Amino acid sequence: MKIISSPLELKNYLKNYNCSVGFVPTMGALHEGHISLIKKAKEQNDLVIVSIFLNPTQFLKDEDLDKYPKKDEADKKLCQLSGVDVLFFPHVDDIYAEDEVSVLAPKVRGYVLEGSSRPGHFNGVLTVVIKLLNIVNPTRAYFGKKDAQQLNLISLMVKQFFMSVEIVAVDTVREKDGLALSSRNAYLTPSQREEALKIASSLRNATVMVTRGVLDAKEIISGMREILSPLHIFYVEILNRDFNQLAHIEIGNTIILVEVKVGTTRLLDNIWL
Ligand code: AMP
Repeated sequence: MKIISSPLELKNYLKNYNCSVGFVPTMGALHEGHISLIKKAKEQNDLVIVSIFLNPTQFLKDEDLDKYPKKDEADKKLCQLSGVDVLFFPHVDDIYAEDEVSVLAPKVRGYVLEGSSRPGHFNGVLTVVIKLLNIVNPTRAYFGKKDAQQLNLISLMVKQFFMSVEIVAVDTVREKDGLALSSRNAYLTPSQREEALKIASSLRNATVMVTRGVLDAKEIISGMREILSPLHIFYVEILNRDFNQLAHIEIGNTIILVEVKVGTTRLLDNIWL
């Protein structure tokens, strides 16, 4: 596995290849969720590139960028074991200049759900993603359905900026007890982890309600809120795949999204029905 930190060096290196390229952008502290993106990329492409870049611009001023888990050596080993061809590991100065051109998230879709309590977060996400996509110029780029709003906004950017990369959405990987894998789970104490299981329970309950024929969004949301209580709930929403609110579940076109705070940790999850 080749490890490259300079964007120009990576661009030059890739000039030697005339093949399909799969790209998996991450912020490191890799887990099975990231690995499933890498596996999918390996299945579908000749060359697989993973980036590890803890992007400062997607953290708000009062958020703890410094505390974000870092596992550089373990991450490198995991990438190697997963058959990654190139690990792109840039430094902040390789990606950002002093006076920056940047991408603005859409005024509506970028400021609801996670964007409502983290205003500006998606500007940072879209800006770094467009930079990374321009450096790697992949055939396909892989993103988790777990970060559904991020996936939706990146797909929108690719469409509205007429970019030719194919965005591939990958299912959420969970622990046996249902907790969605996240680098942020490392912040949870054992009792907070127990509390966090309410998220998966609330989503499971929603699925059970739907299979019993309950399709009314308000009824499902109120059932979920009861299960999540007393956690701090940022939102529980039932949306279609274009992120518009639904009054009734539409099978094949629905995402149920939750974001809560457990202790000081934000956790988000969703199911696609
Ligand atoms: P992050 O390092 O948290 O920025 O995540 C990098 C990519 O991995 C994003 O596309 C995430 O949506 C995806 N991802 C994170 N957690 C999971 C998971 N549990 N299952 C599948 N994909 C995930």
